[in-house]
Formats: sequence, C-alpha cells, structure tokens
Amino acid sequence: MRTILVTGGAGFIGSHLCEKLLETGERVLCLDNLFTGSRENITHLENHPQFQFIEHDIIEPFFTDDHIDQIYNLACPASPVHYQHNPVRTIKANTLGMINMLGLARAHGARILQASTSEVYGDPLEHPQKESYRGNVSCTGPRACYDEGKRCAEALCFDYHRMHGMEIKVVRIFNTYGPRMALRDGRVVSNFIVQALKNEPITIDGNGSQTRSFCYVDDLVNGLMQMMQTPASEHGPINLGNPNEFTIKELAEKIIALTGSSSTLNYTGAFREDDPMQRCPDIARACEVLEWKPEVELEEGLKKTIEYFKKKIS
Ligand code: UDP
Repeated sequence: MRTILVTGGAGFIGSHLCEKLLETGERVLCLDNLFTGSRENITHLENHPQFQFIEHDIIEPFFTDDHIDQIYNLACPASPVHYQHNPVRTIKANTLGMINMLGLARAHGARILQASTSEVYGDPLEHPQKESYRGNVSCTGPRACYDEGKRCAEALCFDYHRMHGMEIKVVRIFNTYGPRMALRDGRVVSNFIVQALKNEPITIDGNGSQTRSFCYVDDLVNGLMQMMQTPASEHGPINLGNPNEFTIKELAEKIIALTGSSSTLNYTGAFREDDPMQRCPDIARACEVLEWKPEVELEEGLKKTIEYFKKKIS
C-alpha cells in the first residue's frame, strides 16, 4: 500500500482529494494548519483505517518515519480575502513551505505535485491562457503575495528537479467550486450562493463584466490524480480548469435563477485592485497529456453546491 501525503488536506479541494485517494486504496496522511481548512471537511474520513490527520503548518519542516510515496502540495489559503489577511504568511507558505515539502519529497524519493494557480498569469494580456504565456503580474500589488509566491514555488520545483533530478508535477488550477467551500470563503461562487439563499443583494464588483471559468471540484481532483500518474518525464506546468467562460454578472443571474431567489444585483462600481479582467484556461495540454477534460457543466455543479450551502446555512 502506498502512502500519500496531502498538504492542505482539510481544505476544500484537499478534502475531496483525500476522499478519492482513500477510495482508490491508498493510505493518506493529511496535513493542515486549519487556517482555512476545517476538521468538519474530513470528519467522515477520520475513522477510516488508512487515513491520518496531522495538524501541521508546512512553514515548519515535517518529519515522519512512514515512507512517503507521493506528495500533493495544496497547502495555501487560496481565496483573495484569506491570502491577503496575512500576506507575509502566504509568501512563507509558498516559499518556506514549498522548500520543506520538496526536501521531504527528496528525502523519501517521493513524487511531488505542486498545486499552482492561474494567478501566475496575473491580469492576462493573452486570452485564453496557455502554459507558455509568462503572465502580467504586479510584484508590488495586494495579490503579489499569492501570485509571486506561487511563481516562486514553481521556480523551486523546477530547480529541485534540475539540481536533484526530482520527479515534480506542476499544475495550474483555475477557479474551482463545489461543496465544502467555506461559508465565509469570500470567493465569488460561495458569496453569491449564500447571498441568493438569504435573498440578500448580490454584491458584484465593478460592473460585472470581468470573466472567470469555473471548474467543478470532482473534475479538478480527477485532473490532479491523472497528472500524478504521468510518466516521470512530464513535469508540467499544465492548466487544469473548465474553459467555459462567464462574466461575473452572468454567474450572479444563473445563481439567482437556480435558487429561485428574490436577490437584486448590487454593483459596487469598483473593481478590486489588480483584478484579472478575463480568465480562461487553454486546456489543450491537459487534453493531450492527461486525456482529461471537465465533465460537469456549470449549472449541474452549481445545483450540487447550492444543495450543500442550503444544508450548511440551515
Ligand atoms: N467578486 C464579486 N463579488 C464577490 C466576490 C467576488 O464581484 O462577492 C468578483 C471579484 O471581484 C473577481 C471575481 O468575482 O472579479 C472572482 O473573485 P474571487 O474572489 O472568487 O476569485 P479570483 O478569481 O479573483 O481569485
């Protein structure tokens, strides 16, 4: 039996990944500092004989006598509200944390997958974004702690590979949604669903013309696992996301319709600083290398997510 370490394993995506890995017969060691992750996300796994949770912040080195075969490094607050809460800590998670996890992988001869992000493209001037695009990122703005942190983490992965021949896998995750997003996550899908369910005004930044492409969490997790299984020569980066693009206004209207809400649209008039105006992944590489493409349409995924939040709120 293999032992798989998942950092950020009690988070939104991490908990779905732990669940899927257990289903496929792996032993899972779940690390999380519980800053944005929650024990509630993994309660249903905690009695599983092949699952172990360890409260740990990857900013600190992690040692174990268990042999680790693979590491999925997901630990980092991912919502702008959370990663900007303590930006220096966000940078540490992506630099010190990344070095600690690469060191651990090296010591165990383990493969390591880094959960990078579409934020490495910043406010993109190329559309849709291919992996070859080098991005348009501010290194001094409020998103820099995350964007530059994640760019540095990618650099570290490739340097460890070049220096030590390590098996690295880098994926760039685009906006992902689904059950177990935190109620106060602050991201657009969770904010809008909660506001709609409470019949409160939907808060749309700017004029709602900015776009995002939303990937359902099950699709994303499949992509992560498929990337981990690629031949040793495949390092990425590979984009993972759903290429169906929507304006934020369209998303709000869809959520109002699906919830049958009486919410109104409340435009704040101002975009967030350095907010990407368009975001859509080019997933040609994922299709070719992983034979992966998202299966869940936005409406279907939103329905499941709305059901989750309904229970959560009640
Ligand atoms: N947004 C919004 N209202 C909200 C939350 C977010 O209009 O209550 C907008 C935000 O300004 C951005 C987009 O939705 O343009 C996506 O924001 P999110 O925080 O979900 O993630 P991002 O893709 O920016 O990392």
